[in-house]
Amino acid sequence: MDIKQNLTHIESEIKLACQRGSRSEDDIAIIAVTKYVSVETASKALDAGIRHIGENRAEEGTAKIEKLDKPATWHFIGSLQSKKVKHMIDKFDYIHSLDRISLAKEIQKRMPEGRKMKCFVQVNVSGEESKSGLSPEDTLSFIKSLEEFPAIEVVGLMTMAPYTENPEETRPVFRNLRLLRDSIKDLNLSHAPCLHLSMGMSNDYVIAVEEGATFVRIGSSLVGKE
Ligand SMILES: *Cc1c(COP(=O)(O)O)cnc(C)c1O
Repeated sequence: MDIKQNLTHIESEIKLACQRGSRSEDDIAIIAVTKYVSVETASKALDAGIRHIGENRAEEGTAKIEKLDKPATWHFIGSLQSKKVKHMIDKFDYIHSLDRISLAKEIQKRMPEGRKMKCFVQVNVSGEESKSGLSPEDTLSFIKSLEEFPAIEVVGLMTMAPYTENPEETRPVFRNLRLLRDSIKDLNLSHAPCLHLSMGMSNDYVIAVEEGATFVRIGSSLVGKE
């Protein structure tokens, strides 16, 4: 795995997608998803110029962050059990999988006084049963109800598109998440600026960027699988 070469390729694909979508590539952050790889490989990703790392397990992710001991922004991207929050809360900068009030309560309880956790609300746009997240219809009322948790800032929405051989099929999923984001952003809720879209993985990040992604979460095609 030549991470630097993979990153150069991904950045050039993002640049082209931005040109097609009339966007600035500065508005897109690449999260290297290191859940399949060792601490050493994650460290190489940082050396290659990656600034954002994503992990999906509370204990393993936290242990990796401690071992890496390098400056980066850490994203929790997996489904999060409430009882695991206390293990990870002071290591991660973002949680991409807020999908229920019980989890919001636990984040509120565990967050150090005066600090806010940047959260994405996860939406199951495609309606697949295997995917977690709120239905698009329930998302706004859920976000409104988060107002009572001062330790939570809703920075945006997150989704996972269904895996398909033809990434073009994911476009409506990403587009619908963007439209939902726009409608919530336009409400100017102080606890939910909702500026960001966390969407796009190895298979479909180009389409996600064309449709407005501001964070893409890329694992296998960037750092590989070990
Ligand atoms: C594993 C994972 C990714 C990255 O998947 P790749 O297909 O390897 O790029 C992105 N987002 C989430 C939520 C994941 O669990």
